[in-house]
Amino acid sequence: MCLSHLSAAYLTGAFDAVTFGGIVTFYLMLSIFLAAAAYFLERTDRRNFLNQLRAALLYRQLEVNSERDELTGLLNRRSLARIGRESWSAEAETPVVSAILLDIDHFKRFNDLYGHIDGDACIRTVSQHICATVGKANCVFRFGGEEILVLLPGQTSLQALATAEKIRRAVEGLAIPHGKSDHGVVTASLGVASAMPAQMAIEKLLQRADEALYEAKHRGRNTVVIAEEPQIAA
Ligand code: GH3
Ligand code: MG
Ligand code: MG
Repeated sequence: MCLSHLSAAYLTGAFDAVTFGGIVTFYLMLSIFLAAAAYFLERTDRRNFLNQLRAALLYRQLEVNSERDELTGLLNRRSLARIGRESWSAEAETPVVSAILLDIDHFKRFNDLYGHIDGDACIRTVSQHICATVGKANCVFRFGGEEILVLLPGQTSLQALATAEKIRRAVEGLAIPHGKSDHGVVTASLGVASAMPAQMAIEKLLQRADEALYEAKHRGRNTVVIAEEPQIAA
């Protein structure tokens, strides 16, 4: 539009050629300057936006990593505090939560016999197969050295018992040689406990699963034991 006004002014003889040239040059320079400024401002905005995006992704990655165990990739104790609290507070949706605590049998002997590197590989393999057996990874935690916890919101004690038995068979079925085990292969003992969040604290549920696990060891290992149902006060 500006160009058509200038052309009309030139054609009607409002400006001489030199003044007209000056005006055109001025507008041309102004246009170039504005276009360049817009481009560089946008480029800075784009760069800032990308940097923010990158920082957010990095932060999320750090958050995810800080909740994972380095050796197995399972969730760690730190994440148990958060996820356990969430399962426990979602009382209405999960009236019952089950816990399976697994401990590899005679693992100290395994380390003594095959060394810590093979020991690490054994823990890793068992962990992966537990996730595959349970069908999801967001409820399997490395609880301790060779102890693994599976939290199952919504599963009753009988369902959890069936899951634990599947895990026990899966670990035995891996057929990892263990020269100093009663079965010649790596096995595990498991304790199962269930509770309603309204009934008790999560720590108490884990303690009951631990007691059941202790009983499984006592009964000769490579066994699943379910904790007795707690007495509900009248
Ligand atoms: P039980 O059947 O009663 O469970 O006997 P156990 O030998 O498995 O039990 P104990 O708790 O006495 O030994 C556990 C061993 O697990 C001791 C420790 O050296 C080993 N361990 C713990 N964490 C790791 C790990 O990250 N890597 C390896 N290789 N070994 C580990
Ligand atoms: Mg142990
Ligand atoms: Mg053990």
